[in-house]
Amino acid sequence: MSGLNGESSRILQNFIGGEYVDSIQTPCKYIPVTTPHTGEVIAQCPISTAEDVEKAVEAAKEAYKSWSARTVKDRVQTLFRFHNLLHTHIDELADLIVLEHGKNKAEAIASIAKGAETVEYATSLPQLIQGKILDVSKGVTCNDTRVPLGVVASIVPFNFPIMVPMWSLPIAIATGNTLILKPSEKVPLTMYRIVSLLKEAGVPDGVVNLVNGTVDAVNAICDHPDIKAVTFVGTSQVANLVMERCHKLGKRVLALGGAKNHLIASPDCNVETTSTDVVNSFSGCAGQRCMAASVLLIIGSQPELLERITDKAMALKSGSKSGEVGPVIDKASLDKITSYIEASEHGGANILVDGRSWTKSHTKGFWIGPTVIFHKNKEDKALHDEIFGPVLSIYQCSSKEEAIEIENNNPYGNAACVYTTTGATAEWFIKRFNAAMCGVNIGVPVPREPFSFGGINRSKFGNFVDITGDGGVEFFTWRRKVTTRWGQENLDPKLKM
Ligand code: NAD
Repeated sequence: MSGLNGESSRILQNFIGGEYVDSIQTPCKYIPVTTPHTGEVIAQCPISTAEDVEKAVEAAKEAYKSWSARTVKDRVQTLFRFHNLLHTHIDELADLIVLEHGKNKAEAIASIAKGAETVEYATSLPQLIQGKILDVSKGVTCNDTRVPLGVVASIVPFNFPIMVPMWSLPIAIATGNTLILKPSEKVPLTMYRIVSLLKEAGVPDGVVNLVNGTVDAVNAICDHPDIKAVTFVGTSQVANLVMERCHKLGKRVLALGGAKNHLIASPDCNVETTSTDVVNSFSGCAGQRCMAASVLLIIGSQPELLERITDKAMALKSGSKSGEVGPVIDKASLDKITSYIEASEHGGANILVDGRSWTKSHTKGFWIGPTVIFHKNKEDKALHDEIFGPVLSIYQCSSKEEAIEIENNNPYGNAACVYTTTGATAEWFIKRFNAAMCGVNIGVPVPREPFSFGGINRSKFGNFVDITGDGGVEFFTWRRKVTTRWGQENLDPKLKM
């Protein structure tokens, strides 16, 4: 069977110790990977077990001995080459993302470029992590240097097949750790290709290992005593499970969860830029971004803004070219999104733009068009739950105080943004938002490198701050503090002053 790009339904393996290897269990169980454009099966992903994780840990432990002994300057040479390979293969990689995830080609390319930025950050680590030294009293010096943890692991979601793995992989290995990565079983093809590029770049065997699978592989990673730290990105429910499981072993864990991001349109906002930005934010990547707009709170009546948002959302077309909106990941996601639109409609909300027409007009695949809902009831579930699709919920507030109260009461804390042309209004909201990544006139306020990425509340579990930038360096290392005194007593008498 062939996929969109002639990709055959191939049987995938794991990548352990620098080789593609079958999952150990016999018979090996697989989960079908589908392309969301048509629902067609394009690959079979192994459902790895604890034995596969054990094998990956052994390979990573062996590789750690020599990898951690190399200097950071030496280690990052492989990342310079890998960065180059990411760019020379960007077209091929973007096609894989389009095929298995459904992003349009421009979104896929942008996500690889963003992933490449975290690789760039990691190549600068020799300039950034040289440690500290100080004479703390007469004849006594203290120095503080960073030490890798050992074997670490990353468990990643479906929505960014390369970019999210690149939040952890480059910093984890540049700081001297060896890594086990568990891709999403919904999009395993892209990282499957990436590990071969890492090998081509000179990353030694066993430094990056891929264990494909689902719950069993994740549980085995959390439970393995030789895996010293785990990063997770996915839904809040699983993030919480992963955190609790890792904490039972006292393991270092950073688990990023879901989101419900609020944008606020102040009466003085620029209608043209606000409407363009809001539509791009909620419909880009078919709304499957943890930083996507999902609730727009309009302060007072703003009919012109509503009209421009509606017009721009209605003008969007389905497809995989730049500017078009792709499908959502699978049938379960499509059904979930549809159920929120139906519930809002039954609850009396106005469906200003109805994406359900796309589901009817596509006979295959998982399509739902941009949907704009104008809510009258503050309790509508679509205003509160993470929907993770191209749906914008709009609610009109009577004041900025009401808007901030709604934003503050949501349990997540990834992103929030205000649209205004007044500095004082922007400052008022930024000081009050209950979210860690805030924007002023920016629909997707992702902190770009070297700033680190991470939310608060139910968008982040675990006891570390952020996943990229200096947050990542802190997560993937511990600090060795050495206090030294070389007394004068043993000094060669000839050298004594
Ligand atoms: P998910 O939680 O279903 O899956 C994430 C990973 O966990 C996958 O590798 C999956 O195999 C594994 N998994 C799934 N169920 C599990 C279980 N019961 N036990 C153990 N492991 C399990 O998430 P998803 O649907 O792949 O990704 C979408 C979610 O990720 C959204 O909620 C989105 O907001 C979130 N996300 C958050 C961020 C962030 O920075 N906060 C970034 C990207 C995505």
